[in-house]
Amino acid sequence: MFTLLHPFAGFLLAAPKRKKINIVAFFLGAMLPDLEGLYFIPFAYKACAALAGNEFTACAADYPSHFLLHSFLGAILIGVGVAMFFLLVNRMKIMKQKTNTKLIFISSALGTLSHLFIDLFFHGGADALALLYPVGLRSSLAFLGLQQFWNIVAVAGIALFAYIYLYKKEKLFGDEK
Ligand SMILES: [Zn+2]
Repeated sequence: MFTLLHPFAGFLLAAPKRKKINIVAFFLGAMLPDLEGLYFIPFAYKACAALAGNEFTACAADYPSHFLLHSFLGAILIGVGVAMFFLLVNRMKIMKQKTNTKLIFISSALGTLSHLFIDLFFHGGADALALLYPVGLRSSLAFLGLQQFWNIVAVAGIALFAYIYLYKKEKLFGDEK
């Protein structure tokens, strides 16, 4: 799924806890896994270069690009990275308030887990997620053409998020300190 949609779709999943988590850390955790997707784009292009049109698109989409960052281990590593980033920000006194490092780690890890959960419905076959990386077992919930169904759910979810954000902004972020 598109990287930029992940934070919003994930945020809906985390909605019941939204007041407790750090939104920036959650969004970072939800987007950073696709760095490895970015990394594999040139390889996918090379591997599929002989094909054209729809065949090329299908080949590139199925090229395995989900490894460490799309796993539970990756969620921990990204959480540590995001927490270190916030520690640095605290040290440099860029923001007025200091952040709670444990909360940053948990928020980031939740963001990554929401990303993994959503990706499970979108990627299958050789490109399915290896949640237990470095164990090679790949799991997927993308079956029976459910990708299309989940695309619709994602778009509806984002529309709902926009609605909540615009009309209930006070309630959403009102008591954030
Ligand atoms: Zn992903």
